[in-house]
Amino acid sequence: MAVNIKRPNGTEDVLPKDIHKWHTVEKIARETAESFGFSEIRVPTFENTDLFLRSVGETTDVVQKEMYTVMAKETKFTLRPEGTAGTIRAMLQNGLLNEALPQRVFYILSCFRHERPQAGRLREFHQFGLEMAGSASPAADAEVISLAKTILDRLEVKNIELYINSIGCPTCRAKYHEALRSYFEARKDELCETCQDRLVKNPMRILDCKSPICQEIGKNAPVILDYLCEECGDHFEKLKKYLTNLGIDFKVNPKIVRGLDYYTKTVFEFVTTEIGAQGTVCGGGRYDGLIEQLGGQHTPALGFGMGIERLLLVMDKQNCPYLLPKKCDIYFATMGDAALEKAMELSRKLREFGYYAEYDLMGRGIKAQMKYANKIGAAFTVVLGDNELEEGKAKLKEMEKGEEKEILLNDKFVNNFDSVYFDKMMDTLEDDEVLGAFNKSVEVNE
Ligand code: ATP
Ligand code: MG
Repeated sequence: MAVNIKRPNGTEDVLPKDIHKWHTVEKIARETAESFGFSEIRVPTFENTDLFLRSVGETTDVVQKEMYTVMAKETKFTLRPEGTAGTIRAMLQNGLLNEALPQRVFYILSCFRHERPQAGRLREFHQFGLEMAGSASPAADAEVISLAKTILDRLEVKNIELYINSIGCPTCRAKYHEALRSYFEARKDELCETCQDRLVKNPMRILDCKSPICQEIGKNAPVILDYLCEECGDHFEKLKKYLTNLGIDFKVNPKIVRGLDYYTKTVFEFVTTEIGAQGTVCGGGRYDGLIEQLGGQHTPALGFGMGIERLLLVMDKQNCPYLLPKKCDIYFATMGDAALEKAMELSRKLREFGYYAEYDLMGRGIKAQMKYANKIGAAFTVVLGDNELEEGKAKLKEMEKGEEKEILLNDKFVNNFDSVYFDKMMDTLEDDEVLGAFNKSVEVNE
């Protein structure tokens, strides 16, 4: 019976034709993070469910509606819906927080959330993210925001707004929660069911509800910035000053509360209007209480997650430059077994130098082989047949210019391919320079 299994809804295949886009983002993000002193960490794809309940928060959408949880034997595991919880767990478990602070790690990983799939909203998506632990200073907030901004700038992403807000600490939030409760209490019956429960447990979550009614009601809700304690207020003022000094434009947006419970003080988002409703390309903030909550010592920390799929949507839309995919450097078109063996030998050597060399594996005729070489965009081709092997010489053709040069089929050619290739000097190379050098090694080699 024919098998017709499709990929699950909300997942994506990244095909070879697009992989260079991912490589571009990953390379720039890695290099930028490293230039800020961050090192890569890799953590498991699934964790004990409790880890997410305790960190992400029981009243969040992520925990209430979006987690993929399996019961394996006696234990409940969850596919990670985000990267912070597992990363902090790993930092604690491996004692990283006992080493020199701040500890700075970054990661590139897949996240899983059971959401309604749409453009920019997947059930398996990928994040570039990072965490910095140990610093309570607003300079660390500025550093992390500046890092995200640098990545976006280096990728040449335009028209992205940075929104910042402070959601205070438990001290200021207690007063704020009171104010929110009395505000929402008046229209309690209109709130969605989840938010009626949130009103009791965590009223700030109502501001992050996706239901249009709750959003409408939330529009005139009290604003957290009016409730900040002195310390949180100072922290926010300093952050704004640092960002201004760094030349980073931002807007204060008191509506940003972020979808995860662990945030304190600074929260921020980089948002674009160019890819529809799912415009938050990067979101993050400070979470000074989380490490303690997960069993560590009180350690202020912060981080962000950047959605790679959303980033690529913007980059595609804006025609941002990508690193070029690797193209074939040299293709050997062969006639007969001996020629094939020669092509294998030369290709092996060229590959040792890092070149991408190919020859026919399909038993095609010469014409079809050349057509194929054209199709894969080979920079150079060499036709090898009985004559060429007998004479130890062949023609190296530079495909773009259509120019040909004679080469000798030996190591010297391989060694010289560098200069031929990089400088594209074929027309300036003296014949006997090339051949002369080759002749010598012919004697040595054969
Ligand atoms: P949103 O409000 O869009 O649901 P969020 O607050 O749930 O975002 P975070 O948990 O902060 O998102 O995740 C960080 C980043 O990961 C987001 O800014 C976004 O770029 C990306 N992201 C989050 N959820 C998804 C998803 N389902 N599909 C694709 N990317 C996502
Ligand atoms: Mg979400």
